[in-house]
Amino acid sequence: MSLMSVVVQKYGGTSVADPVRISAVADRVTGLRESGHDCVVVVSAMGQATDELVSLAAQISDEPDPREMDMLLTAGERVSMSLLAMALQARGVPAVSYTGSQAGIHTDSSHGEARITKITGERVRDSLADGRVVVIAGFQGVDPSTREITTLGRGGSDTSAVALAAMLDAPECEILTDVAGVYTADPRQVPSAFKLDAIGYDDMLALAESGAAVLKPHSVTYAKDTGVAVHVRSSFDHSSGTLVSAETGDFEIAGIAHEIVGDEGRITVVGSLAGEKVDGLVESLVGAGIDGRHGEKSDRMAQIRVHVERIGDAMRSIHRELFETEAGK
Ligand code: ADP
Ligand code: ASP
Ligand code: MG
Repeated sequence: MSLMSVVVQKYGGTSVADPVRISAVADRVTGLRESGHDCVVVVSAMGQATDELVSLAAQISDEPDPREMDMLLTAGERVSMSLLAMALQARGVPAVSYTGSQAGIHTDSSHGEARITKITGERVRDSLADGRVVVIAGFQGVDPSTREITTLGRGGSDTSAVALAAMLDAPECEILTDVAGVYTADPRQVPSAFKLDAIGYDDMLALAESGAAVLKPHSVTYAKDTGVAVHVRSSFDHSSGTLVSAETGDFEIAGIAHEIVGDEGRITVVGSLAGEKVDGLVESLVGAGIDGRHGEKSDRMAQIRVHVERIGDAMRSIHRELFETEAGK
């Protein structure tokens, strides 16, 4: 047993996009290990590699076989995991990479959107005991009954990391990405959005289910069910990000998320006051010349629909009303 706890980190696509970024990740992991931690590092495929594989399949077949699709897509993470292990070794850090199957990540049989059923993790534990950094391919597992390789759905590396943290009894799981944490809105759409220091599981889940790509919805459910706290933070600096945990209760307004369905933009306001605020928000959109319509509504969220061309304007307007005016605060 080591004195320091095991740290589970996951690096997303942008964070391992090229050799320079992979080297930066290797430096960061080396620092963590030098401070005495056991390290398990989950990686996504480099940059847009998964999209490129999807596009290759589409050029070959209109209806690719789901089994072969998973064989194809899991190749992306194999590249990044082995390169990161090599980068660590080049720094004198003992490291080994494992596919999801080698790590004992068992799933059901649903190709393309499989659910993790269990992680046996023998090789992970043995390698940690040997003093190695363990690098694991995110987004993939194996169905033990058929021995077929599966994937966990787009963005599924988040779930791999949370499940590994739960298996290893790690106190938290770090999700390192290309933004500084979870914001009140996608900061790429709403420059005035601000980072939340903490958010509860239910608010985070509602945001993720409504399109906030920063965490895969199922990873949030998994974290809630197993009590793993998730620390979403930047891989580009060491600032602390957003802690997703049971420590934070529900917000009156947590933030807004967006998604595009056909030519419709769907903006979801999340929080216990969402339903109360939505009429005023739609009114102010119409006042600003944006045709906003009501969408789905529950006690935790309310949706507003606009034409896709106006989604950015609508988000900025809604964010302003909710967070940047006296009435909204
Ligand atoms: P990774 O490759 O690291 O998994 P993703 O692209 O899946 O990264 O998720 C990070 C992206 O999520 C950010 O670049 C940002 O544009 C988007 N995003 C959407 N909503 C939010 C939000 N509320 N807070 C932070 N980021 C968000
Ligand atoms: N590489 C996979 C994807 O692009 C999994 C992930 O990044 O989480 O969806
Ligand atoms: Mg992601």
